[in-house]
Amino acid sequence: MIPLVDLKAQHASIRAEIDDAIRRTLDECSFVLGPDVATFEQEFAAACSAAHGIGTSSGTSALHLALLAAGVGPGDEVITTPFTFVATVAAIQYAGATPVLADIDPATFNIDPAAVAAAITPRTRAIVPVHLYGQPADMDPIVALAREHGLVVVEDAAQAHLAEYRGRRAGSLGDLACFSFYPAKNLGACGEGGMVVTSDDAHARRLRLLRDWGAERKYHHVVKGFNFRLEGLQGAILRVKLRHLERWTERRRAIAARYRELLADADVTLPVEMPWARHVYHVFTIRSRERDRLRDALLERGVATGVHYPVPVHLMPAYADLGLPAGSRPHAERACAEVLALPMYPELTDAQCETVARAVREAAGPRRPDPHPAP
Ligand SMILES: *Cc1c(COP(=O)(O)O)cnc(C)c1O
Repeated sequence: MIPLVDLKAQHASIRAEIDDAIRRTLDECSFVLGPDVATFEQEFAAACSAAHGIGTSSGTSALHLALLAAGVGPGDEVITTPFTFVATVAAIQYAGATPVLADIDPATFNIDPAAVAAAITPRTRAIVPVHLYGQPADMDPIVALAREHGLVVVEDAAQAHLAEYRGRRAGSLGDLACFSFYPAKNLGACGEGGMVVTSDDAHARRLRLLRDWGAERKYHHVVKGFNFRLEGLQGAILRVKLRHLERWTERRRAIAARYRELLADADVTLPVEMPWARHVYHVFTIRSRERDRLRDALLERGVATGVHYPVPVHLMPAYADLGLPAGSRPHAERACAEVLALPMYPELTDAQCETVARAVREAAGPRRPDPHPAP
């Protein structure tokens, strides 16, 4: 069986380094924040071409705090995409604001700048583009809209470590950017973790307060804050893994290129890599009108797949409060019915890659003309 992701293979390849980092942290007893977290914040911010990194307990708490630091609160509207992990929308509601969901560009799966423009009202305060699957959203028109209307841009870069847009790193494209170090992300902790990066000194100061109980120094609380700190063990482990991330990212890109070659004649739609993007392939997503049948056929052939995401946020029972009916975000809804993620992780071998592609070619058959082409 070829899995969708294989965390054990990655751990086996760096076990000795991780063991050292854990032993050092236990000997130092620096369990919450501490020197490794501080160094990791600097190293990761530098990798994002940002001045400051503020480690947090998860990507979700990073998004929540970034919105609060940007001054988002009750009465504000925040524009984001319905085709994302629910955390993006949840964080907007945690900050007390109202999520406004703008449909995606079906070619890239990312928020459509024209839909963002149409969603702006006098109450709009921020835009949260998600760099879905590891490909940056089309940021120039989004940032231009934000500047024109006085809005804050918070990148949800949870899937986009080391991705680039027109030669610039994800994390340096808006006012603030949020990363997740959930274990299965391109840079994953041995547990939960996240980070906000920003080049704005005032935002960074406020974020450091907010993630640690709003305390200026111990027991002197100047704002109402949270317990959203990154653990010392995770900081030490993430420093080790960051040293390998560039190599792992290039391997993901090489696997994606190989899939493209091998699937060129199969009856599936390949993901579009925009000419201005360094796509980091957190997920390699094909599309098929017969997605569920294809998924079953691949499973029979020993290939695990994933669906990110089967339901757009506005059609989840938990988000019925958004009041958006089926059919209201057609591109996101169609993507949910058609996307299929193939195995993608840096340790995937060339032979496994070929096995996956052969199974897809057999299961999908040769390319036929699409009677209902995606727009
Ligand atoms: C993973 C993810 C998050 C949330 O990160 P956690 O660390 O799991 O809290 C937010 N947005 C997107 C797009 C994600 O993929």
